[in-house]
Amino acid sequence: MARIVQKFGGTSVGDIARIRNVANRVKAEIDRGNEVAVVVSAMSGVTNQLVAYCNELSADHDQREYDAVVATGEQVTSGLLAIALQGLGIQARSWSGWQIPIISDDAHGKARIVDIKGDEIDKSMKAGHVAVIAGFQGIGPDNRVSTLGRGGSDTTAVAVAAAIKADRCDIYTDVDGVYTTDPRIVKSARKVDKISYEEMLEMASLGAKVLQTRSVEMAMKHRVRVQVLSSFSDAPGTLVCDEDEIVEKELVTGIAYSRDEAKVTLIGVSDQPGIAAGVFGPLSAANINVDMIVQNTSQDGTTDITFTTTRTDLDRALKVVKESIKVPYKSIGSDKSVVKVSVIGVGMRSHAGVAQTMFKALADKGINIQVISTSEIKVSVLIAEEYTELALRALHTAYGLDAA
Ligand code: ADP
Ligand code: ASP
Ligand code: MG
Repeated sequence: MARIVQKFGGTSVGDIARIRNVANRVKAEIDRGNEVAVVVSAMSGVTNQLVAYCNELSADHDQREYDAVVATGEQVTSGLLAIALQGLGIQARSWSGWQIPIISDDAHGKARIVDIKGDEIDKSMKAGHVAVIAGFQGIGPDNRVSTLGRGGSDTTAVAVAAAIKADRCDIYTDVDGVYTTDPRIVKSARKVDKISYEEMLEMASLGAKVLQTRSVEMAMKHRVRVQVLSSFSDAPGTLVCDEDEIVEKELVTGIAYSRDEAKVTLIGVSDQPGIAAGVFGPLSAANINVDMIVQNTSQDGTTDITFTTTRTDLDRALKVVKESIKVPYKSIGSDKSVVKVSVIGVGMRSHAGVAQTMFKALADKGINIQVISTSEIKVSVLIAEEYTELALRALHTAYGLDAA
């Protein structure tokens, strides 16, 4: 008998027929003799609608109330799935975050899980009940509901799996695994059988939203075996596991992209010691995340500094630069129509030339690279948004990833 956490995403519970389908999948796992706990997302589109309501009332709404509103989507599906399971003769009970409890910090809107008490779930499993847990939500130190950031139900599932020492955490979604790149954009994308925690972490944090970044961090920390698979087919999925378990290592495992990027350029910044600290200090004090940075060498005593931040933070970043930065500069420019495209693979640690393949493939398509950043297992470039698809396809082919 294995202990399994099954998580079903928004599309998988998108309507009543799909919730019935999910109930059957849960039943199939129980019929195989396994102990099961389930985590559900809100029905697809519901969280977006709830977020839109908050924004419509006020662009600057209270984050505690935002959480009170957006956490409701998951509560609905947990109750509905419990009813569907009961209809199949299975003893099932819904659980909200506070009932377990899933304890988070106080960063409302993007809270982090700090602790989960597995005892209640454990007890209910031992009694042969299926716990249907509302994903995406917890309870903060202020005793109020919190949410874990968009895509947070993945993190709930992995955290529950770690807390109850599950043998596996199965993430059911609308694609049958992790692909070499987003299969909705590149038709020749290939499903990967196994991917290391480290590579999956880079893929997720660089934009592949198939798993929330924090869920991968948590899986890596607690060594939870995560499987990504489809709730609509029985095709084998992708296992996220230790690098040692992967026999065939590719040079490049995947390509990710992120549209949530914006570029800011400060032109004619006086070139003297302390300018970087003078520019980035106020941005960090304002809690604005800066990602890529380039500074040119100076010819005439001045230099240009370019950095990227998220599109959401762009207006705030511009305000901080204009109001708080004391370093003299001539002018400021910004661009929201950029994307970051990244190639990821542990093979890069031991092989040279990966970045060059990327630069050449983009050059051959006439795509200009605006900013470059690298780390041990990834290379990222910033390009104009209009070339996203072209770049992804060209890189996919250049690294030999196209499906046969
Ligand atoms: P869920 O609602 O089940 O959580 P998401 O929409 O959050 O589903 O994540 C699944 C989506 O992730 C897929 O529909 C796919 O478009 C996208 N995606 C992006 N990159 C990848 C990738 N490398 N492999 C698989 N899916 C990806
Ligand atoms: N419903 C939440 C969202 O749409 C959480 C999730 O689906 O993982 O972001
Ligand atoms: Mg998701």
